[in-house]
Amino acid sequence: MSDFVRRRLNMKRKVLIVDDEEINRLILQNILEPDYEVVLASNGKEALDVVKEEGNRFSLILLDLLMPVMDGYEFFNNLKKDEKYSQIPVIVLTSEKEEELKSLSIGVADFIPKPYDVPEVIKARIGRIIQLYEDHDIITATQFDTLTGLFNKEYFCEYASMADQYYPQDEKDMIAINVNRFHVINAIHGRDFGDEVLAVIGKVLKDYVNENRGIACHFDADTFYVYVKSKDHAEGLHDAICNSLKIILEDSELRIRLGIYKNASANPDFGRRIDYALLACNSLKGSFKEYAAYYDEDIIKNVHYKEMLIRDLDRALSERQFKVFFQPKYAIQKGEPELSSAEALIRWIHPEHGMISPGVFIPLFENNGLISKVDHYVWKEAAETVAKWKKEYGKSIPVSVNVSRVDMMNDGLVSDIKSIVEEAGIDRSEFLLEITESAYTDDKSQIIGLVNELRSEGFKIEMDDFGTGYSSLNMLTDLPFDVLKLDMVFVRNIHTDDRARKLVKFIMEIANFLRVTTIAEGVELKEQYEILKEMGCDVIQGYYFSKPLPEEEFEKLLKGE
Ligand code: C2E
Ligand code: CA
Ligand code: CA
Repeated sequence: MSDFVRRRLNMKRKVLIVDDEEINRLILQNILEPDYEVVLASNGKEALDVVKEEGNRFSLILLDLLMPVMDGYEFFNNLKKDEKYSQIPVIVLTSEKEEELKSLSIGVADFIPKPYDVPEVIKARIGRIIQLYEDHDIITATQFDTLTGLFNKEYFCEYASMADQYYPQDEKDMIAINVNRFHVINAIHGRDFGDEVLAVIGKVLKDYVNENRGIACHFDADTFYVYVKSKDHAEGLHDAICNSLKIILEDSELRIRLGIYKNASANPDFGRRIDYALLACNSLKGSFKEYAAYYDEDIIKNVHYKEMLIRDLDRALSERQFKVFFQPKYAIQKGEPELSSAEALIRWIHPEHGMISPGVFIPLFENNGLISKVDHYVWKEAAETVAKWKKEYGKSIPVSVNVSRVDMMNDGLVSDIKSIVEEAGIDRSEFLLEITESAYTDDKSQIIGLVNELRSEGFKIEMDDFGTGYSSLNMLTDLPFDVLKLDMVFVRNIHTDDRARKLVKFIMEIANFLRVTTIAEGVELKEQYEILKEMGCDVIQGYYFSKPLPEEEFEKLLKGE
């Protein structure tokens, strides 16, 4: 164990004194006890047992040579045979010159002659040997991650168990820390910058565990762990990391998730401590408001539930358990509101679990890429429905579908969409594509290229969830899109809050300047509708007019019922 670790844990070094004469043991113990944690053994065999029990946690062994049961030589030989303990330095306690020589020749670190010298000399000698061996230890140590200076994962477990030993009275929490969408930071700013982000986090965690009695490790690319004396860590730790990262990262890029397994030290299985903290951390994926989650039974249930959804997906697709609902959009600027289009929104009617909201399974399938299968299904259904309405009601109601950021990574996207529309026999202007604003900000040039291609093929693009993706104003003028879809958070307080109203007005002006159509989502109240109309918003989608409807219900609107 290195000096570094001991200092970090505020631990005393452990020294084993092996001597058959009690008086000798007591003298040394008295000399060393203020500075070291002293363990005693009265012969070689006893000492060997103690060493095996304690693992390699001794910084030094002080060894008498002539003892009953097992003498010092035999003990020493046994010790050196075992790789785990062979690095522990041994100082021999001798009363004879001859023994001194002999012991040095077999490889002990030093000797201390009996009767004992002034305590100061003994202490100095012991201190020097420990220092020497520890320096060597540090030089040969591979336990640190060079980027962050924290432990790497191989050694984290070992040092955590040491922390348990040294502070058995402390309840300790295991905390997993994850940098959200770190790959995006790497992709946009380059790997060197990504490394800098990790180094900053490393520094914060180092300080944090020093102050709060614990240890930290850089586990893999974007995941860190902290094993630390239990307290309410969430806010303090989160803020410490974010405050340091603020200097180099934009607010929009900065999201840190914490998964906390409280009193993890009560679980003897170290692997579980790590797993459970990570489970808690992963449970936050797709949630934008929360930054910390605690491990509990619900999280386990949730993990099983999600596994079940993934397992059931293929079957659900082939058994057509997914139903596409349609939410009408109304054009409001020409006299009476007029049904102008609809958004296709998926529902999963699960045979066991009933109706499952897309808010539950979409983020899950986005994380593992399965969303593309789902979207393909929805696009096909939507295109066929537009064709059916045209045929049966003689009305062209364009439908917009959601295009996930994952879909945009697929090379075949444009040809896939083209053939769906073609097979359904509808016009490309009747099939609108919603792309969330944050997809644009993720990888600007890739998205711009793709969107330009889609537009040149005659598709219209609606920028979805506008206002949540943090496009800057000057970025917005570079982005290709035809419709700006204002996110519902902006609409929510528009009728009560002056500032919210001003903000929306400002966004409407920008849209006007960019010459794009505006849609407001989540309009639930008459007051909201009237304000938006007054501001010049073109289209309204929301419960004020209608919830998303099953196909048959929507058709009633077409029949004018
Ligand atoms: P979104 O694209 O922003 O869709 C709008 C959501 O707002 C829908 O929720 C809709 O039901 C809801 N909404 C509409 N009007 C109101 C209102 O007045 N008040 C309130 N409180 N809510 C309103 P939904 O259907 O639960 O969908 C949630 C999200 O799931 C969608 O957000 C979209 O991101 C995703 N999603 C839904 N269907 C699909 C799909 O087929 N493919 C993909 N990739 N994502 C989908
Ligand atoms: Ca949408
Ligand atoms: Ca939206």
